[in-house]
Amino acid sequence: MVAGNWKMNGLGASMAELEKMIQGFEPALAARLDLLVCPPATLIAQFAWKSKGSKIAIGAQDCHAKAFGAHTGDLSAEMLRDAGASAVIVGHSERRADHGETDDAVRAKAEAAWRAGLLAIICVGETKTEREAGDTLPIVGRQLKGSVPEKASAANTVIAYEPVWAIGTGLTPTVKDVEEVHGMIRKELVKRFGEAASAIRILYGGSVKPDNAATLLKAADVDGALVGGASLKAGDFLGISRAYSGGR
Ligand code: PEP
Repeated sequence: MVAGNWKMNGLGASMAELEKMIQGFEPALAARLDLLVCPPATLIAQFAWKSKGSKIAIGAQDCHAKAFGAHTGDLSAEMLRDAGASAVIVGHSERRADHGETDDAVRAKAEAAWRAGLLAIICVGETKTEREAGDTLPIVGRQLKGSVPEKASAANTVIAYEPVWAIGTGLTPTVKDVEEVHGMIRKELVKRFGEAASAIRILYGGSVKPDNAATLLKAADVDGALVGGASLKAGDFLGISRAYSGGR
């Protein structure tokens, strides 16, 4: 899977970029990977309508844990599904930092995604300080344990490992570092959910660009990418998709 997180970017005119993505996502590529675009909530319905009949799926960037109610400004997973989303990112580090989202809150959002029939893309990742202190594995392990609900499976969950210090900075971990964290995530998922969890996709995210994608995404236990900045332009996003060989 290659998933694009547009964050708080995109207006109606961005439809032109989605059209380019739809046109450029040729069948041979579509046979190898799932391509998901997560625009801001204001564009989900338009994007879902436009991508109907194509191989591109549309996702959301966050949801509320409840299905409905007095929560001004929030959107439920059911509403996102109704607008045409098939997946939702939960626990992105920007949500954790800007909105104080805890692992418990993220877990509740992932459960809400499942309740609405959405694929939950659950994000985990350490800060620069945590990496420098040598705490990456325990921190990511703790986030994983707290943020991933019981009954996670390949059909309802994708994990995204996104080192916070690599997001939007142009910095990336080494392949060895990526493999260490992804290997730990895989081991923990299998320990908790059984052998079937070896099919849960683990994406790498953080400054993935067309020119580093082949290197980062060939790492062991990397099943694709979550892409921020480079997902805004069809050429870059498709370039990353082409660089990803789809193997483990
Ligand atoms: C992200 O925020 O999910 C992300 C990976 O951003 P970027 O690709 O811009 O580093």
